[in-house]
Amino acid sequence: MHGAQLDAIEREADARRHLLSPAEEMAKLGEESRPLLAYGEGIYVVDTRGRRLIDGPAGMWCTQVGYARQEIADAIAAQAMKLSYNSPWYTTNSPAAELAARIAEMTPGDLNRIFFTTGGSTAVDSALRFTEFYNNVLGRPDKKRIIVRKDGYHGSTNLTAACSGRAGNWPNFDIEQDRIVFISSPNMRLADGKSETEFLDHLVAEFQQTLEELGADTVAAFLAEPLLASGGVIIPPKGYHARIKALCEQHDIVYISDEVVTAFGRCGEWFASEKMFGVVPDIITFAKGVTSGYVPLGGLAISEKLLARVSGENAKGSYFTNGYTYTGHPVSCAAALANIAIMEKSNLLDHVRAMSEHFAAGLRSLADLPLVADVRSNGLVGCVECLADKTHVVADDFDRKIGARIDAICFDLGLIVRPIGHMCVLSPPLIITREEIDRMISILRQGILQAADELA
Ligand code: PLP
Repeated sequence: MHGAQLDAIEREADARRHLLSPAEEMAKLGEESRPLLAYGEGIYVVDTRGRRLIDGPAGMWCTQVGYARQEIADAIAAQAMKLSYNSPWYTTNSPAAELAARIAEMTPGDLNRIFFTTGGSTAVDSALRFTEFYNNVLGRPDKKRIIVRKDGYHGSTNLTAACSGRAGNWPNFDIEQDRIVFISSPNMRLADGKSETEFLDHLVAEFQQTLEELGADTVAAFLAEPLLASGGVIIPPKGYHARIKALCEQHDIVYISDEVVTAFGRCGEWFASEKMFGVVPDIITFAKGVTSGYVPLGGLAISEKLLARVSGENAKGSYFTNGYTYTGHPVSCAAALANIAIMEKSNLLDHVRAMSEHFAAGLRSLADLPLVADVRSNGLVGCVECLADKTHVVADDFDRKIGARIDAICFDLGLIVRPIGHMCVLSPPLIITREEIDRMISILRQGILQAADELA
């Protein structure tokens, strides 16, 4: 046996014995370990058994510029030697300041004040905590409810998990329910025969009715992804965000756009809210693509209008305390600056825009295959929804295994797919070429056909 393979077997045993993964089937704890990745290059990862795989989900929607980028590694090493840490309570650092200024240039409207966190969950959590602070300082202690959508995903802190509509994720956890209110997923597949415009009117009416029932003066925030990524790349009807935002403005409700997936090029823009989805939010959260996953970093951009109401002479002696040790970490911010420099130098946003139609056409070419019930995409994020009888809308237990089945087949053929229940999600590194998209779609096609044969 080859030495590398022996090492892989030993490490897999360590993983089985000692690692707890973020999605662990407890009945099988210690029985299986996930494939162990050895290294990555470009859009590929190679496991310790030598299998070379297209990274179809870009890790977890994050490896925008791909693996093994020397410029990012150099920036990390240089910053670690220059200033590896500073206390954000008493000091700040140059990469954090520069990155905040760069991000403020990229955000829409007046979202010019940036707070850095350690990832997406802490970014959304901080946005919600800021909203609490905001209403308390404004003397509105009862304005505390948060409206979210079924199928949404916002993270894994207690509060962000409670805001995540895929309730099946959290059995056996004590999830806060009092303040969180769920409204419908804006999923055209649930439109029940309505046209896109009729469905939009229906969703807006539901939001309005929810405000009336709750009392708008008890609602602090509307929290929404521009497209619901983990929910299965659900793209709302055109005009959805703008119509909901107008109601939020009318009722002084903070509109938080969770761009943890969609920011930094995924949809062909630095931020998708305004240019792709027609809305200028009050707060935007981001993470993942900001460093292309090289090191953890997240953050939020807050509107000056919001801040003006609770700062300066309106501060009423308040302190905004949300004290992460690693806020504005210099090494993470240096990595983000290097990542953004690569994206700019290679015109990556233009590349995503150029590839997105080819990607969409590739997905559409799968639509007539057995099992495939729907395909949808935006930029370089897409979903193939698979159901045993192709036609029904709600997946049953049998359907829920289809995504994992297709993923397992594709893995052997050289592609990682992200199975989410009955759905296969693809969000490749943004540097993917036309030919690599073709290869990815071709493997997925084989995976679906083989799964259909096995399931028949
Ligand atoms: N928000 C959205 C839209 C996400 O998709 C995710 C993670 O996938 C998060 C928040 C949580 O981010 P993190 O896993 O970095 O904490």
